[in-house]
Amino acid sequence: MTEAPRILIVGGGYVGLNTALRLQRKLRRGEARIAVLDIDSYMTYQPFLPEAAAGNIEPRHVVVSLRRALDRCAIVNGMVTGVDPVSRTVALRPQLGPARVMEYDILVYAPGSISRLLPIPGLAECGIGFKSLEEAIHLRNHVLGQLDLAESTSDPEIRDRALTFVFVGGGYAGVEALAELEDMARYACRYYRTIDRGDMHWVLVEATGRILPEVGPEMGLWTLQELRARGIDARLETLMKSAEGGHIVLSDGTEFDSDTLVWTAGVKPNPLNQSSGLPLDERGRIRATAELVVEDHGGVFTAGDCAAVPDLTKPGEMCAPNAQNAVRQARTLADNVVAVLRGRPLKAYRHAYVGSVAGLGFGKGVAQIYGRKLHGLPAWVMHRAYHLARVPTFDKKVRVLTDWTLSFPFRREVVSLGALSRPREEFERAARSGPR
Ligand SMILES: Cc1cc2nc3c(=O)[nH]c(=O)nc-3n(C[C@H](O)[C@H](O)[C@H](O)COP(=O)(O)OP(=O)(O)OC[C@H]3O[C@@H](n4cnc5c(N)ncnc54)[C@H](O)[C@@H]3O)c2cc1C
Repeated sequence: MTEAPRILIVGGGYVGLNTALRLQRKLRRGEARIAVLDIDSYMTYQPFLPEAAAGNIEPRHVVVSLRRALDRCAIVNGMVTGVDPVSRTVALRPQLGPARVMEYDILVYAPGSISRLLPIPGLAECGIGFKSLEEAIHLRNHVLGQLDLAESTSDPEIRDRALTFVFVGGGYAGVEALAELEDMARYACRYYRTIDRGDMHWVLVEATGRILPEVGPEMGLWTLQELRARGIDARLETLMKSAEGGHIVLSDGTEFDSDTLVWTAGVKPNPLNQSSGLPLDERGRIRATAELVVEDHGGVFTAGDCAAVPDLTKPGEMCAPNAQNAVRQARTLADNVVAVLRGRPLKAYRHAYVGSVAGLGFGKGVAQIYGRKLHGLPAWVMHRAYHLARVPTFDKKVRVLTDWTLSFPFRREVVSLGALSRPREEFERAARSGPR
């Protein structure tokens, strides 16, 4: 008896999880063996990271367990280090032990993107991104920890530095992260006797002349005015020149110190692309056809942030790297994998951008979706309804809805659990103090 074809899925994010979910639903038992390879054992629903950072959603409710959601797939955790399309193998390095080489008949390649850093002095040492749950929760604890520090110190310089928060990049990740964290810190201020909202200095640095291009120029301008009305120091057409030792220097000549530098100035395709043996475009993305097949590599599919997929609604352009495309591409991709297995024709991916929604804090939002422009409370409700409908698995929808419901009567928790990242500190102190 011949073995069922082996499908390997590199990356269990938006594309990987949604492709695997659809494949396990559509394929008959024994029609194929599916394995999902990812560093983590969960998929992160990134649009909820700002709300997780703000404490509106429990961290565990922002992620989906791959093992739980994909009960008909094998989950293999480790770092994929290379792909060899000639021998049809993928190299994987588990956390411990020898590297593995895994064979495939069909490959779904979707390792996404990483933060795009610029060679700015001090950035790599002092900055942090906002792409993972770990970063979001660290920032939540850090911001609240800075308020604790500011209230405890008698040194005005340390206090000012602790209360200065800098975000570079005015896309949805930067604007939502800043707006949600500022909203949380503003709320937390009521529990600090010596810190007033006006003592904090929240700075948004954006290189171009607009923010939040995802919601269009009109709503982008509205967002800018809303942030400024909240006291946020939003600087357009400004670059960060240096951040050495936390001393921030901007291109408009402003200089100040800060312990918080969040870098959200864009993403680039996963560097794994370079060692994938697959064809790349000038930006380092995997070249794909509209059917989501890698050019000249039948049996290898790709989609999402790592790929250059032609946008059939805008001839000559490529699909933007966003969740909207990733989810829909995953659907077409899974259908095309099934089509290959069953000897049927493939279909092309075609999707016209429907707009975007963004949360700007509790009860505040902005949206431009299906041509409708909204701001304030209606946009916030739309933002929540949209993402609740989109977050994978029924279980997560119920948990997120419960978090939101509970936050109405009980408001948010404003405690910093920064020590969670140093769990052995207390024990080591005890060890140093000796037996008596
Ligand atoms: C804060 C934030 C908010 C956002 N909000 C929105 C929004 O409101 N609307 C919208 O449309 N888009 C939004 N996006 C963008 C959206 O999340 C991405 O476009 C989407 O996640 C891309 O999906 P993907 O599957 O290509 O990559 P990902 O979802 O990032 O998945 C990639 C997976 O590959 C794994 N991986 C990477 N390298 C390796 C390796 N070497 N070996 C093994 N596994 C690997 C990763 O662990 C990850 O699980 C947001 C992004 C961020 C960061």
